[in-house]
Amino acid sequence: MTTIRAVHARSLADPEAFWAEQAERIDWETRCERVLDYSRPPFARWFVGGRTNLCHNAVDRHLATRADQAALVWTSTEVDRQRSISYRELHGEVNRMAAILREFGVRKGDRVLIYMPMIPEAVFAMLACTRIGAIHSVVFGGFASISLAARLDDARPRVVISADAGSRAGKVVAYKPLLDEALARATHRPERVLLVDRGLAPVAMVPGRDEDYAGWRERVGAAAVPCEWLESNEPSYVLYTSGTTGKPKGVQRDTGGYAVALATSMELIFGAHAGDTMFTTSDIGWVVGHSYIVYGPLLAGMTTVMYEGTPVRPDGGILWRLAEQHRVNVMFSAPTAIRVLKKQDPAWLTRYDLSSLRTLFLAGEPLDEPTASWIQQGIGKPVVDNYWQTETGWPVIALQPGIERLPPKLGSPGVPVYGYDVRIVDERTGADCAAGQKGVVAIEGPLPPGCMSTVWGDDSRFVRTYWSNFPDRQRYSTFDWGVRDEDGYLFILGRTDDVINVAGHRLGTREIEESLASHPAVAEVAVVGVADALKGQVALAVCILRDAQLAGTDAAHRALEGELMRIVESQLGAVARPSRIVFVPALPKTRSGKLLRRAIQAIAEGRETGDLTTIEDPSTLDHLRQALGVAEAVPAASGAG
Ligand code: ATP
Ligand code: MG
Repeated sequence: MTTIRAVHARSLADPEAFWAEQAERIDWETRCERVLDYSRPPFARWFVGGRTNLCHNAVDRHLATRADQAALVWTSTEVDRQRSISYRELHGEVNRMAAILREFGVRKGDRVLIYMPMIPEAVFAMLACTRIGAIHSVVFGGFASISLAARLDDARPRVVISADAGSRAGKVVAYKPLLDEALARATHRPERVLLVDRGLAPVAMVPGRDEDYAGWRERVGAAAVPCEWLESNEPSYVLYTSGTTGKPKGVQRDTGGYAVALATSMELIFGAHAGDTMFTTSDIGWVVGHSYIVYGPLLAGMTTVMYEGTPVRPDGGILWRLAEQHRVNVMFSAPTAIRVLKKQDPAWLTRYDLSSLRTLFLAGEPLDEPTASWIQQGIGKPVVDNYWQTETGWPVIALQPGIERLPPKLGSPGVPVYGYDVRIVDERTGADCAAGQKGVVAIEGPLPPGCMSTVWGDDSRFVRTYWSNFPDRQRYSTFDWGVRDEDGYLFILGRTDDVINVAGHRLGTREIEESLASHPAVAEVAVVGVADALKGQVALAVCILRDAQLAGTDAAHRALEGELMRIVESQLGAVARPSRIVFVPALPKTRSGKLLRRAIQAIAEGRETGDLTTIEDPSTLDHLRQALGVAEAVPAASGAG
């Protein structure tokens, strides 16, 4: 029996041998001449000269063995519909979509922007692009026109694929007017807009530009469009980061490296195999959706469950009901979804037969100890936290149950994944930190296959942003802060901009949050550093209570504040005690569920909040202003020129 440690050591000692072996998991039209070319660091080129195709590996390859197996099971609690699509049917639909794109003149290297709700046609569109070598750029359907326009101008797509509408918590959200607004705002003009009409909202078609999907689908008939074999390093897609810390970066992904990395991760990390069913509750607009709703499970010959809906509609049991109904083996969700469930009746966790489920994976933000143990005990299954980024495309730090069942440590996403030489380094010198010493989570180049090749259209931004943060050394910075324990487990302490400095003491906001969250009354909490004339910075804690009534009276509120202060003081010391604790009904988050700390900080310091186009619910900012007793900052007059 092999161990995670042994696999990791081997992957770093001889990366070429390790990845050459993994490359056997996929089909190649032409084998590579060289496994790795790192002659121009930090640009790593994997499987140089090899020719392959993502769509072939995700769809066509399985026709011989599993044509009638469900490839995609779509469930919508928004429109109350289900649809099961076999590999054979998926192949047919992808070919039709590819034929339509060809009719529109889309060629290898052209970009196609996909702005769609969670419907099967979105998956057809992604696979159709990779089939013909077009580069897709999926933009999360929840984004409005400003975010969309920025991505249109950056990706410069030849064609946009969209739909009349999405639906969120039972409310129809018309996409077409948002798209039209974005197209009017953007400088770049795509030639065609292909629209899937779900019959949810009226659509005003622009003649000569807008095309109806259903009509074209009929017209192209049972088309057969051959796969375009791409050199392994040719781009498969561009995906923008979540924009939690600022301007989103266009992450460019390769083809062969990504296919190999995902196929390997399905087995070694997720412990999944052909024929298994995976249910990932993300959105195709995020990297988790790209890798683990679409490409990963399909590359592995699995069935993927695609869900349009929220975790609490029609009730708090829906995710587990779907897991039972589809005999799900592997589930992947985010801490934010689990925290939503925590506010529901815990009886939902045990109502359904989850005997098929082996593991629940969670990623996207820090998984606090109380939430981890709540869900683990609730469903009685192993919960595997895993840490990664849009940039990496697949997990960097994780327990890897596909290799070995290591005991989890609550609050830690686990140990470095094979292929990643993860270091904790001193932010000033770039030198390696000892166990127990906090530092920046960095990765020694080359990044393994599947990680970003560059920033779309901007090689120098790639080098500048990610590889130029430490003196004398070119190392990839994750911009997260972490620490390694004596057993080699890593703990993420927050983003590097979330480190606060109280009277010379450096504290991770994450540590203070963990401490506050250990109080049973607290459902969720955010801690930010706020400028203070005396101490440099002080910690402000913004809490959501499990029972909103508790904070109802001033006296109860003050008592609770005192208790919380004492918890932090006893666990972390007086220096970490927040200067202030306020209570709000909801926290400002991005559409992908990430805490917008910079917005909380700006409000607390009476500054403007800056670019918040990715915010989920703007009213959370008003609640916060109210709780803090501050007024909205008046926008500074913007100087001309
Ligand atoms: P932007 O880079 O545009 O500011 P973003 O960093 O939120 O946005 P993503 O790539 O979606 O964009 O998120 C990656 C980040 O999410 C990580 O760098 C880390 O801060 C956080 N993260 C992801 N998974 C975990 C995890 N398991 N534990 C702790 N933090 C995590
Ligand atoms: Mg980031």
